[in-house]
Amino acid sequence: MRSETSSLIILIIHLRLVKMSEFIPYGRQDIDENDIAEVEKVLRSEYLTSGPKVPEFEQKICHYTGARHSVAFNSATSALHVALLSLQVGKNDWVWTSTNTFVASANCAEYVGANVDFLDIDIQTGQICLDLLEVKLKKASKCNLLPKVIIPVHFGGACCDMERLHRMSLEYSFMIVEDASHALGASFNNDKVGNCKYSVATIFSLHPVKIITSGEGGILTTNIKSLHDRCCLYRSHGITRDSGEFVNENQGLWHYEQHLLGFNYRLSDIHAALGLSQLRRLDKFIKDRTAIRQFYEENLNCNLISLIQVTPNCESSHHLAVVSCNLDSEQHKQVFERLRSQGIGVQLHYEPVHLQPYYQRKGIDYNCPNAEYYAQRSFSLPIFPSLSQSSLQRICSQLEYELKNL
Ligand SMILES: *Cc1c(COP(=O)(O)O)cnc(C)c1O
Repeated sequence: MRSETSSLIILIIHLRLVKMSEFIPYGRQDIDENDIAEVEKVLRSEYLTSGPKVPEFEQKICHYTGARHSVAFNSATSALHVALLSLQVGKNDWVWTSTNTFVASANCAEYVGANVDFLDIDIQTGQICLDLLEVKLKKASKCNLLPKVIIPVHFGGACCDMERLHRMSLEYSFMIVEDASHALGASFNNDKVGNCKYSVATIFSLHPVKIITSGEGGILTTNIKSLHDRCCLYRSHGITRDSGEFVNENQGLWHYEQHLLGFNYRLSDIHAALGLSQLRRLDKFIKDRTAIRQFYEENLNCNLISLIQVTPNCESSHHLAVVSCNLDSEQHKQVFERLRSQGIGVQLHYEPVHLQPYYQRKGIDYNCPNAEYYAQRSFSLPIFPSLSQSSLQRICSQLEYELKNL
């Protein structure tokens, strides 16, 4: 009897330890029964794609962000590609974007044959540094190499001073396309990101790790009707069914026309239904993320690390919880590896894109020392709506332990 009791106790302790060391990812989706029911409804309906859910989703995104138009895509990468095509960016044009981003922010310019240059960041915020940008623009202006488009990346769910960037765009005549993949639900000057007050277009990602998800997906917002129309054309093979647009004589009810070389970048109704259902909980998700950010602020009691800052006048969606460490790069790597081995899914956002072999091969002298310094000292802690208090406590105490035992 006694040995049965003790083996039971051992089993319980073992199960607790297994539970304690469950892997905590840096981000994950939050799917509830309503989401599942909404997707199921589409599966039982007439249209799996090109049905009513996509326009309904687009309309709700317009309503949420305050933008006049929106176009849903099968990914943010597709949306970025089509945005540049629709703005007629191509060969001999320059596109500048942050080096502290996912590769898609730069690759979209490569797709259209444009040249890419990278912008260095402000180490305090991780956003593009507008002082350095100003210097770079002055220099480029002298040799006639100004960019046609700048793609600011709303890193971690916050943004740079968009008002100032907009003033610079007027002075140096470039267009702004916002890569807001991280920033659905964020605001600047009390306006929702995506309202395009300071840009020609804004792109959001709906990948599972982002603020809301449709499985895969992306959505573009704009206030420019002609840009919206071109994006729709590129999204679906360059084909129009609008008789008012026809170049040839209308042959009959079957007639449609291809006007340019487009793609199949459509979002399906199955995905749109999930996006729509998730959108209803967007504000709740932001609230949960904000509370987690606050927990970290209050419970990371170590002068070796600090959370990166949010630009004044910006309310972040808190896609990432990035800490900067006052450590050398060896110690940084050691803390990172130890946290991972303890089941805490820290991640680095990002290894600078200009250091990727693909961009290095171009032989361009990219100059982004701040981003390189930042990448050797930062990492993202887990942050997602269903992250529990006990997990948060475990993360904080483990981090504190690792820093003490360097
Ligand atoms: C996720 C992400 C993208 C790409 O989004 P997809 O929807 O996966 O194509 C682009 N830019 C940034 C900054 C991202 O984080």
